[in-house]
Amino acid sequence: MRLKQFKLAGFKSFADPTSFEVPSQLVGVVGPNGCGKSNIMDAVRWVLGESRASELRGESMQDVIFSGSSERKPASRASVELVFDNSLGRIGGSWGSFAELSVKRVLTREGQSSYLINNQVVRRKDVHDIFLGTGLGPRAYAIIGQGMISRIIEARPEDLRVFLEEAAGISRYKERRRETENR
Ligand code: ATP
Ligand code: MG
Repeated sequence: MRLKQFKLAGFKSFADPTSFEVPSQLVGVVGPNGCGKSNIMDAVRWVLGESRASELRGESMQDVIFSGSSERKPASRASVELVFDNSLGRIGGSWGSFAELSVKRVLTREGQSSYLINNQVVRRKDVHDIFLGTGLGPRAYAIIGQGMISRIIEARPEDLRVFLEEAAGISRYKERRRETENR
């Protein structure tokens, strides 16, 4: 599974539809202070299901929508789409047969929120499920944010275990067990 491309529109400072190609496995984002580098990482976390505005450096979830500038009026909605190459089939389950997978999240100013996989409306949980155990999730280790390295180094053993279980691919099974036990 590899992130190939992502598209933002109306998300934070990205007022206009913007598309990025991800050319290789290791990508650096550089630019002057305030140009939107961290907003890109926020966008990736957001589309993968982040539900806490504080994790996205905002006070409410509506803060991810472009708030306008002296020349531009505020956007009415924010959307972020990630396109993955799944030709190696790392993503299993009902979406496993697709060689390409698009995951999209949209939020309107009225608060209407939706998730789509390959343009089909799904639940937040469906997005969560396909990435569980792959290291890519809103709080998984594939996205290393500012301060995260020291958070891992200083983590309590029980918190560190969560990262290890994700890396070993067991978190998927633990969650299934939890769901079964709660039925
Ligand atoms: P640094 O190098 O300082 O870390 P950065 O490139 O990571 O900077 P970001 O934090 O991604 O910068 O972007 C900050 C900019 O995004 C600020 O100018 C801020 O006003 C703008 N911004 C954040 N949220 C919104 C929003 N909802 N609407 C419009 N602009 C926004
Ligand atoms: Mg930054």
